[in-house]
Amino acid sequence: MDINKELIAFLDRSPTCFHAVDNIRRTLKENGYRELSEAEHWDLSAGNYFCTRNDSSLIAFRIPQGEWNGFMIGAAHSDSPAFKIKENPDIHKDGMTVLNVEKYGGMLCAPWFDRPLSAAGRAVVKENGRLVTKLINIDRDLLVIPSLAIHMNRKANEEASYNVQEDMKPLLTGGEKSFMAVVAQETGIREEDILGYDLYVCPRTRGTVWGAENEFISAPHLDDLQCAFGNLRGFMEAEETAAVPVYALFDNEEVGSRTKQGADSTFLEDVLGRIAESCNKEYRVCAACSFMVSADNAHAVHPNYSGKADPVNRPAINGGIVLKFSGNQKYTSDAVSAAVFRSVCEKADVPVQVFTNRSDMVGGSTLGNISNSHVSLHTVDIGLPQLAMHSPWETAGVRDTEYLVRAMKAFFSSSLAVEDGAIRIG
Ligand code: ZN
Repeated sequence: MDINKELIAFLDRSPTCFHAVDNIRRTLKENGYRELSEAEHWDLSAGNYFCTRNDSSLIAFRIPQGEWNGFMIGAAHSDSPAFKIKENPDIHKDGMTVLNVEKYGGMLCAPWFDRPLSAAGRAVVKENGRLVTKLINIDRDLLVIPSLAIHMNRKANEEASYNVQEDMKPLLTGGEKSFMAVVAQETGIREEDILGYDLYVCPRTRGTVWGAENEFISAPHLDDLQCAFGNLRGFMEAEETAAVPVYALFDNEEVGSRTKQGADSTFLEDVLGRIAESCNKEYRVCAACSFMVSADNAHAVHPNYSGKADPVNRPAINGGIVLKFSGNQKYTSDAVSAAVFRSVCEKADVPVQVFTNRSDMVGGSTLGNISNSHVSLHTVDIGLPQLAMHSPWETAGVRDTEYLVRAMKAFFSSSLAVEDGAIRIG
């Protein structure tokens, strides 16, 4: 199957980070990866492994048969901006029921109006005296956030502003049925057995490939599941090298990463430390011979807002992988890490382009520098060029997906050695 069709199938099955991680877990298991529990001792030999934290972050790795000296890490994030459904979500008014929601991350609000939506996430359920996590995905059109007609707000197009508490409440029913009763009915879980939940409003619009030359892909969650998918492909297709390839997927990038499973947690450090310990290696020596690619989508030049891009560094959709730089080091890329990544892409015959913010604009940030405060190693920030970042339906390029797979395959097939202060990519 075409790689972008596979990406769309993955996106369709991944309405939340919990589903994305579960889909990747299944893929890894089908390919012979052994799931480790953080709650048990790890006795590792050559082989393929992974573990998850909070069911929303995941780290997979391979210990080679031969000697190895460090870690080659490819990281991305599993979460996307969405409306989180609050506790006691029902608001009954005028014979209808709408849902009480709040923001998760910084989304564009406008495109959430007038499109089919549903709810997904997880619930914790009492089962035979244990607390068990269940994935929830109400796989049908269930909710809509209706716009106010132009006749009742003549300035809607000139003065767009959205108050989440007032304007963004999704309509559930023209009656009084409660949201949790709908969840129970749709999942077969008894309402009284649900002791906790993390449920989100999610877009229902399916991904598609479009454009005069079928050059674009649009779908929910391209930021950052396009990178999560491309990194995974590259990781699984890579050849054995003198390093441990590590696939890392972190939750909570969109809200600052400061959770037990985010990039600002001990998750990566814990896993790498346990690998080193189990293989009788000195962790700090391994870290010094390691490299991380932090992959999170980048802004392409927008045809209608071309002045928003830097005058020179102007990433084009389907123009290749974007290397991200920022003067304040919000992006980790520097002379050394850019040089390493450029040599890997050259070997893989993948084009590289550059993103910098306009000097009068404050840009976004990502997980690379946050992760570096726990696991400090050479890191580069990259991404695939896209439009409409943080819309519930984003747009990117079909060729760029292939470029990422190829570049990450070459990256995960490499190792890094430090010789007299110089770096050799093997
Ligand atoms: Zn992102």
